[in-house]
Amino acid sequence: MKKIITLVLMATIATTALTGCSSSGSKADSGDKKVTIGTTIYKFDDTFMTGVRNSITSQASTDNVTADIVDSQNSTSTQNDKIDLFITKKVSALAINPVDPKASSTIISKAKSANIPIVFFNRVPSESDMNSWDKLYYVGAKPEQSGTIQGKIMAEYWKAHPEADKNHDGVIDYVMLTGEPGNSDAIARTKYSIDELTTQGIKSNQLATDTGMWDRVKAQDKMQSFLTSKGDQIEAVFANNDDMALGAIEALKAAGYFTGGKYIPVVGVDATAPGVKAIEDGTMLGTVLNDAKNQGIATLKIAEVVGKGETPSKDNTGYDIVDGKYVWIDYKKITKDNISDAK
Ligand code: BGC
Repeated sequence: MKKIITLVLMATIATTALTGCSSSGSKADSGDKKVTIGTTIYKFDDTFMTGVRNSITSQASTDNVTADIVDSQNSTSTQNDKIDLFITKKVSALAINPVDPKASSTIISKAKSANIPIVFFNRVPSESDMNSWDKLYYVGAKPEQSGTIQGKIMAEYWKAHPEADKNHDGVIDYVMLTGEPGNSDAIARTKYSIDELTTQGIKSNQLATDTGMWDRVKAQDKMQSFLTSKGDQIEAVFANNDDMALGAIEALKAAGYFTGGKYIPVVGVDATAPGVKAIEDGTMLGTVLNDAKNQGIATLKIAEVVGKGETPSKDNTGYDIVDGKYVWIDYKKITKDNISDAK
C-alpha cells in the first residue's frame, strides 16, 4: 500500500514538474515572441500619410519588429473594427492615426481594458483624452509652427516683389484652401499663416476660402471656382498642404499662369516629392517640411519600446519625450534656396 502511495505521489510530482516546465516554456515563447504593432492609418490614399507609413514599415524591418498596417478608409467604424481585431490578436502595442481624434476615448477604453499601450500619431487627441491613461503617447508636429512658416515665406516674397500687389492697395488679396473641417492642422495653418502676415505688418484680405479636404483633385476644382469668381483679383494662394497647393497650381496653369511672366505665389505644407518638384519648376513658391520620416520612426520606436513593456526615453527611442508622452517633430521652411534639405 505504502509502495502504491509512493508511486502515485511520484507520478503527481512528475506531472506537476512537466506541466510547470511546459507552462514556463510557453512563457519563454511569449517572451521571445516578435513585437507586433497594430497600426492603422486614417486613409492610405493620402500622400503625406503614405510617407509616414513607408517610414514605419522601413523602421520596423530595421528593428526586426512586425508592423501590421491597415487602411481605415477614412471611416471611424472601419478603424474601430480593425482595432478590435488587433486587440483580439493581442498585439504588443497599437499605433493609431485616428480618423477622428475626437472619437479617441472609445479607442482608449478598448485598449485600456486589454492593457495594450497606444501611440497616436499625426492627429492629436484632446489633452484630457491623452491624460486619461498612462500608456498613451503622441507623435506629431505643432501645427501653428507650420502656419507661421507659411506666413514667413509669403511675407518675404511680398516684401521683395512690389509687383505682387497687383492693384497697388498695399493689401494681400489671398485665397485659402483648407484641409478637413475641424482638423487641428487645418485650423492652425489657416490661422497662423495669416497671423504671421499681420505680425510682419502686412495687411491681408481673404477673397475666398473653401475646403479641399487635403486632396489635390478637390482643391483643383475649388481653385477653378475661385478663378471664375475672383479672377485676377487673387494675389496669393495659401494651401494647408502640398497636395492642395498642387491642385491649385493645375487650375492656375489652365488659366494661363506660370507662362509668359504671369505668376502668383502659392505656398503649401509637407514638402512631398511632387511639392518639392513644383518648387524646382518654379510653380510653387515654398512649402514647410512636415517630417514624415521622423514621425514614422518615432512612432515605431515608441510603440516598440512600450510594446516590450518598457518606458520610452531619449535613450531607447532617440527622441525627447515631452511630459512623458509627447514627441514633437519640428517643421522646416523650404524654398528653392534650401531645396536639398527636403530631399
Ligand atoms: C498633412 C496633410 C495630411 C494630413 C492628414 C497633415 O499633417 O500636412 O498632408 O493630409 O496631415 O491628417
